[in-house]
This record gives sequence, structure tokens and C-alpha cells, in this order.
Amino acid sequence: MKDNAELRERICEIGRRMYARNLVAASDGNLSVRLEDGTILCTPSNVSKGFMQPEDLIIADASGEKVSGSGKVTSELPTHLACYEERPDVNSVVHAHPPHAIAFTLAGRSLSEGVLPEVVAAFGGIPTSAYATPGTPEGNEVIRPLIRSCDAAMLDRHGSVTVGKTVDEAYFKLEKLEHAAQTLFAAHLLGELQPLSADEVARTLAARRAYGAMGPIYTADLY
Ligand SMILES: [Zn+2]
Repeated sequence: MKDNAELRERICEIGRRMYARNLVAASDGNLSVRLEDGTILCTPSNVSKGFMQPEDLIIADASGEKVSGSGKVTSELPTHLACYEERPDVNSVVHAHPPHAIAFTLAGRSLSEGVLPEVVAAFGGIPTSAYATPGTPEGNEVIRPLIRSCDAAMLDRHGSVTVGKTVDEAYFKLEKLEHAAQTLFAAHLLGELQPLSADEVARTLAARRAYGAMGPIYTADLY
């Protein structure tokens, strides 16, 4: 992708939606897009995603050093860089703090079991990483092995990481992740969850393949 006014405005618009949908609070979260020349267009540190202007975005190189822009590079950029290094097929990373999905990690409940067929078709399961202190390079280390095999993951006690070919795609995966967590949260209140049968999981994954869906699918805990 090329850095241009349209792309910058799109990132700001998605930031506003994340903020409006309670997927981030205050200045939490960050979005980035890998540009054609390998540099990263990203949201700066300490700016609310609900109130960004196109000129607030900064450009960093692939090692995380700032190339242009007046803001400061976010301490969570190394997590984005790890995703880009592991996934040459994606060009956008969105990190957010979706409350229901985070609650599952706090309670030690898995989002990676095969319960909702829509989630199985979209992601397989949604794995949770080992714990990493937010704002440290540990986020890079814990996301690296997971993001090789999935497009949506939770950082334990912290937030989500979703990736896509475009910033829209990475954002919609975040919406789906939190929507699934809200649904499962309600179901847990109502009673015990019944997982899909192994046969149904297999049929759902076969239907996904037949539909031509791309990207990795996380199957470690599905059956
Ligand atoms: Zn965070």
C-alpha cells in the first residue's frame, strides 16, 4: 500500500470506530499498515484512537525507528513488527483492548474451542498467548509463535492482536473476536457450553476451504 491521504483517513476512521465500540479506551491500542517500501505507517503513542487526525500518524522503519511524523513511536510497535516479520502475507496489524475477550483471559477461559461455527469458519480458534508485561518487548516474543498460525490472538491479561491484508480486514477480525467473546460470555452465564462435535468442526472447516477462505486457521484446541 502507498502512504496517501485516503489511507491515513481510513486508519483514523477505523480508530474512531474502535473507540466508539468500546474496543479501546483513552489512548489504548494501536493500528499499523505496512507500506510498499517496507516502512510502517502507524498510530503514535499517547493519542486517543477516537480523535486522531491524518497528520498524527507516523512512519517507522522495519526496525521500529521513526522515519517521519511529530509523535512518538508506541512501545507496542515491536508486537506489530513481529507480526509483519512472521506474516509476509499481511499488511495491517490492529491491537485493541476488547473487554469481554480480555475477561476470558483473566478468568483463564479459552476462546480457542470449537463452539460457534462462525468463529470456527473465520479463525478456527482464538488462542491466548503467554503473559507479557504490556509496553515491553515481551509482547513481541509471545505473539511471534502464535501469529504464524492464526489471524486473531489474545495477549494474556492485555488485549487482542488481529492481522489482515488491509486495515479494514484486520479491524473486522477484531470486531468478530469481541462479538464472539460477548456471545460466549452470555452463554456462560446461562449454563454450560456444549462444544461442536468433531465431525461438525471438520464439516465447517471443509466448507471454509470450499468457499476459498485464505489465511491460517488455528486448530490446536478445536477437536
Ligand atoms: Zn495494549
